[in-house]
Amino acid sequence: MQTAQRVMQALRRPFSVAGQEMFVSASIGIAVNGPEDRSTTELLRKADVALYRAKAEGRARYVVFAPELDADPAERFDLDNALRRAVERRELQLLYQPVVDLETGALVGMEALLRWNHPHRGVLSPATFISIAEETGEIVRIGQWVLEEACREAARAQGLRPGSRLTVSVNVSAAEFRQPDLTGRIRRVLEATGVDPGTLQLELTESVLMHDVPAALEVLQELRRLGVRLALDDFGTGYSSLSYLQRLPIDTLKVDQAFVGRLGVDASSGPLVRAIVEMGTALGMEVVAEGIETEWQLGYLREVGCARGQGHYFAGPLTAEQFRRLAASRRPAMAWGPLLAAG
Ligand code: C2E
Ligand code: MG
Ligand code: MG
Repeated sequence: MQTAQRVMQALRRPFSVAGQEMFVSASIGIAVNGPEDRSTTELLRKADVALYRAKAEGRARYVVFAPELDADPAERFDLDNALRRAVERRELQLLYQPVVDLETGALVGMEALLRWNHPHRGVLSPATFISIAEETGEIVRIGQWVLEEACREAARAQGLRPGSRLTVSVNVSAAEFRQPDLTGRIRRVLEATGVDPGTLQLELTESVLMHDVPAALEVLQELRRLGVRLALDDFGTGYSSLSYLQRLPIDTLKVDQAFVGRLGVDASSGPLVRAIVEMGTALGMEVVAEGIETEWQLGYLREVGCARGQGHYFAGPLTAEQFRRLAASRRPAMAWGPLLAAG
């Protein structure tokens, strides 16, 4: 443990690369050789388990292996392997959450949300496997599948509403964003599915963009030239710089559901949401509120001029079939109840 402390301390000092100050942190897993450890493989596996735990607890720390830790990361190891096969086995599924015009209740878009129908563990949410997929690199294949599937479905839904510009939002994680030829891949999917680039919106989080702003700017501009829309997801929870916000070619600001969820609960959320909506609007962006659950929240958002929103108040993530039923109906969100109740 003392050695781990020393290693972390040594790494904590900033160093300079090409005149830029850089920081690294280390996560360390420690396992102690005991009488039951018959192989180095087993010892390393335990150290690995402790390492995963250190990362899960927020990184930049060490964790000593204890038998209680075993259940969870061993499972994780298992998930690694299972995830590699999930695409071929068609275990991944996309659900679609409607995005609504808050003034009229009209359906204006859909956000593709990934689910994994694990053969033994049931339906898993992206929170349980996206970070694993990022670490193993599997995210690139998964992301490609998500993009293709979402665009195929968007083409179908758009076909049900000729003349309207239903947008399809796809979440893009850090590793996907950094892959070379992202723009080329997207262009090919758009061509293959016939989706108008202007109706595809890529959702990125602040941390993905702010991590390396000059590099991000270059990719964003390329994507912009392709004609796709760009959204800043979970706005307000990450680490953002307002001057970058002004410089990055962002079309849409998505107000994080944490703020929306606390509307009417604490005194500061209202003014904060109002400020975000006003700032986004003033910068020429479209503002979308996430996680609208109550009529009161909807009322407040309308009052402060938030144009669009999504949340369980209207509809949660739906199967493609359910979503198509809404798209075909042309009813406003207030009249969706019977359509969704039909299963
Ligand atoms: P997100 O993009 O911010 O998506 C919104 C999340 O809020 C979704 O969770 C959605 O189901 C949930 N939600 C919708 N309405 C409400 C509401 O009224 N109240 C509350 N409390 N929650 C609501 P989900 O589907 O579990 O996705 C979580 C995150 O996983 C997403 O956050 C996104 O960052 C990521 N994700 C989802 N699908 C993909 C994907 O295909 N690729 C990648 N890279 N990430 C994805
Ligand atoms: Mg999103
Ligand atoms: Mg979000």
